[in-house]
Amino acid sequence: MGRLNKKRSDLSISLDEVGESGYRLSCSKSKEWIRNVVRDVGDSDFTFLDEITIQIDAFRMGEDFSVSGVIATALTLPCVRCLDDFAYPLEAQFHYTLCPSDSGESLPEMEVRRDDLDVVHYKGSSIDLVPLLVEQIMVTIPTHPLCGETCKGICQQCGENLNNRLCRCSRENEKISAFEVLKNFPVKQKS
Ligand SMILES: [Zn+2]
Ligand SMILES: [Zn+2]
Repeated sequence: MGRLNKKRSDLSISLDEVGESGYRLSCSKSKEWIRNVVRDVGDSDFTFLDEITIQIDAFRMGEDFSVSGVIATALTLPCVRCLDDFAYPLEAQFHYTLCPSDSGESLPEMEVRRDDLDVVHYKGSSIDLVPLLVEQIMVTIPTHPLCGETCKGICQQCGENLNNRLCRCSRENEKISAFEVLKNFPVKQKS
């Protein structure tokens, strides 16, 4: 597919510069930048609230490269229980081992081909970090985001967000259940 080819980013590591003593890349990118690179990959429409900070450490191990990194940003996600948007701080730590692509056929430049969980293949003299960062963002975003463990969700009857206030139906349900308890109480005493 190679859809990232058009936009070569400055987030690439020139392999000549990476020695055994390591190479560090530390930078931040605007929220517009993240929105654009994430939009290229998925159909999800995330709202990023903050810039992304990126720190990458790369080491040479013969022909292979060890790349580890930390990214941090914040975005809004819709809560699956109450459907309200909430701020989600995203932080990811990751590690990849980059091995030279052994096949002679020409792979699309940015394709991440993997044999193992954290093994990716590179080709050429530089590694573009953008596909790796995008992948980390996508796997870190929860598939069932919750605004909080105690989120009360929405009322099944009227749709009111119960975190904001109790709707009429839930108050009535409460009254009924309190009545049921009182009604059953003496019966239980007798038996
Ligand atoms: Zn919620
Ligand atoms: Zn209700």
